[in-house]
Amino acid sequence: MDTLVFLGTGDAMGVPRVYCSCDTCMEAREGGVNARFRSSVLIDNGSGFLAIDCGPDWRRQMEMLGHRGMQRLLVTHAHFDHIGGLPEWADACRWMGHKGELYTPAEVIPIILRQYPWLGSHINMIPCDDGMELDGWRIDTWKVNHGKNGYSYAFRFEKAGFKWVYCPDSISLTPAETNPMHGADLLVLGTSFYYEAAELSTRSVYDMTEAAELLETVKPHRAVYTHMSHDVDLRKDYILPERVTLAVTGMRVPLVKE
Ligand SMILES: [Zn+2]
Ligand SMILES: [Zn+2]
Repeated sequence: MDTLVFLGTGDAMGVPRVYCSCDTCMEAREGGVNARFRSSVLIDNGSGFLAIDCGPDWRRQMEMLGHRGMQRLLVTHAHFDHIGGLPEWADACRWMGHKGELYTPAEVIPIILRQYPWLGSHINMIPCDDGMELDGWRIDTWKVNHGKNGYSYAFRFEKAGFKWVYCPDSISLTPAETNPMHGADLLVLGTSFYYEAAELSTRSVYDMTEAAELLETVKPHRAVYTHMSHDVDLRKDYILPERVTLAVTGMRVPLVKE
């Protein structure tokens, strides 16, 4: 059985934020429930895994699960919190003597290589704009609005009638951009704040109040919110739609119909 594992559930800065002494950050510092690595997940199929995104906490995330290597990775976009671990993965591939496989839309590849020009020696960059099949999953990807931070991509996975979507970095999506989410069994959506008061033009990720409206439209069977900043304190009770769960580091979700 395939299981989704949350390697990281934090926003770009993670939790705790180095400069911050708020209640959430202090609780996280003591190893509490709010400690969040940068956002990343993997699909564990029992004998191997397929990861999505590789931020700067990648090394500690692999240690957390006891994994000694990683063969395959999907990348949503080339922001540091989603690709900052690539040089360490490439080094690991070099020492293990194998080439990693990185799947991402074609336009993302040159942006990654501009930042880390040496990665191509140890990682094959494979464009996946037209979708692909991996471990029996039909995987499709499409571009999503990332507000003031430009764009990201979302991934949609389908196997044996079970459909789920991973969309950590997006905001103000158009109907065309939400179309592939309709009727998903599981939607994993990034929500950096419960309510973000900042001017919309300065923002880049949904908050939970906007996400509730999105869920009314796309009606997933259930949703998990991730990519959360120190604004979100998991010890509090938030008003959320039914069948929404806030992700916790290390959380596992079976990818089968309930
Ligand atoms: Zn991000
Ligand atoms: Zn981003």
